[in-house]
Amino acid sequence: MRVSLLLPMAALLSTTAAVAQTAPAAPDISVQTLRDVTKTLSSDDFGGRKPGTPDETKTIDYIVQRFKAAGLQPGNHGSWFQDVPVVQITAKNLTPLTITGGKTPLSLDYRKDMVVATYRVTPRIDIKNSDIVFVGYGIDAPERGWNDYAGVDVKGKTVIILVNDPDWQSSDLKGPFEGKAMTYYGRWTYKYEEAARQGAAAAIIVHQTAPAAYGWGVVQSSWTGPQQELDVKGDHMDQSQAIGWMQKDDAEKLFATAGKDFATMEAAAGKKGFHAVPLGLKASVSFDNDIARMKSHNVIGILPGTKRPDETVFYTAHWDHLGHCDPVDGDGICNGARDNASGVAGLVALAEAQAKAGPAARTLAFMSVTDEEAGLLGSEYYAEHPIFPLSKMVGGVNMDVLNTDGATKDFVITGYGKSELEDLVKPLAAAQGRVVEPEPDPERGGYFRSDHFSFAKLGVPMLDGGSGEDLVNGGTAAGHAATLDYIEHRYHKPQDEYNPDWDWSGAVQDLQLYYELGRELADGNAWPNWYQGTEFRAIRDKSRAGVATNE
Ligand SMILES: [Zn+2]
Repeated sequence: MRVSLLLPMAALLSTTAAVAQTAPAAPDISVQTLRDVTKTLSSDDFGGRKPGTPDETKTIDYIVQRFKAAGLQPGNHGSWFQDVPVVQITAKNLTPLTITGGKTPLSLDYRKDMVVATYRVTPRIDIKNSDIVFVGYGIDAPERGWNDYAGVDVKGKTVIILVNDPDWQSSDLKGPFEGKAMTYYGRWTYKYEEAARQGAAAAIIVHQTAPAAYGWGVVQSSWTGPQQELDVKGDHMDQSQAIGWMQKDDAEKLFATAGKDFATMEAAAGKKGFHAVPLGLKASVSFDNDIARMKSHNVIGILPGTKRPDETVFYTAHWDHLGHCDPVDGDGICNGARDNASGVAGLVALAEAQAKAGPAARTLAFMSVTDEEAGLLGSEYYAEHPIFPLSKMVGGVNMDVLNTDGATKDFVITGYGKSELEDLVKPLAAAQGRVVEPEPDPERGGYFRSDHFSFAKLGVPMLDGGSGEDLVNGGTAAGHAATLDYIEHRYHKPQDEYNPDWDWSGAVQDLQLYYELGRELADGNAWPNWYQGTEFRAIRDKSRAGVATNE
């Protein structure tokens, strides 16, 4: 076990009495806890932790048991749980997606060539001869002077959309959509939201591995089988009837049968002033839906604040994963050891360390949210139905996939340059002898892909980051190889399994930093905001305005 000291140099040089008075001991993050919780939650016994199954019960009971043992109190008015209403839709009797009206008719097979699903809670989806329109990146961003839907009516039509945003191939961060960094306009969630606002009957994204940041296998495994969303009034009938993806080579065939060249059209879509192009083709697809309503659960434990208990500092980590999934080498359980049994283990280890140190002035909350994999559902539900007011939520840290490759010389912030939390993180990282870096691959859109984003959308800054790739043993070459190995061979696959040989020293560094950050926020008076000019600042200012502050 490798534990780095976080004591400031001054404290190291002072007397024992002064240390006791001014500087807390370096937080003791238990590697045994990290190992035990990760190993337990990712064992086959927990079935891959799919929400709404008996594996959920087993999972959340285990987390409560660990929270209790750590010394937390129930966080929801005496309960450890927040009910999250979820509706699960399972498509069946799917027809191929047929494309007619071109030189040759095309028939795209479910799973192999395309996937389709629906947000609408309705027993049957039937799309017949719907006109196909290529809408480029499918973006309407008035503040950036960009509208792919300008002058075209796509009501009742099928739109074909490119993944990511127009300047994703840039080498720097300059451009109408922040260069190679993915903006929210590049996320698939946005693309379906916009297509629905435009009244499209169906929205199909063209999959490409580089700009999507994951392969077709991830699309297959996450878009087939039961799909979950929040169970809301109106049953999501304002959404498009069908949403989905198609493989790039099928998109090339589709464009060819319309007498167009995919690469040419793709290049045109990346230029300002692009206009959507009706392809003169028609799409048909139908399927039936099995509908099941259920409750899943966020788990929340707290250390109530001694002075300002209504002001909260949060640690979050999603407990759910994919459950039973497509078998690889005969293994059909997606155990999600790093994603995100490791994050829950970090949450428990932080709870133990913070409880041991005693309560702070503000409340420290530890929340393991559900249904992250289905689209950040548990965190979205909490953010929209907060137990503690969001206007008094100071900020916090989200953990999704801990480092198991060893100690690093760098700490990477996802979505770097957004919030004042970074000003607090930098000295903490420096005290560990680490440098803070922006994410190396902002084109992957990591900032929009975990639970901190649910809070950011409502103005609350949450840190999402972790060890970089510059390993103390092996440097960036070894670190980068480890990242690639995880993304290609394990991420969202049955091979994301517990490994007793993992080196937890990097995770311990990160958790010590999160411990210190949480302490500083919980014992202080700061209200970290978003930097000027970032997309969430106005929301935070509005939320904080008028709150009677105790500073
Ligand atoms: Zn995750």
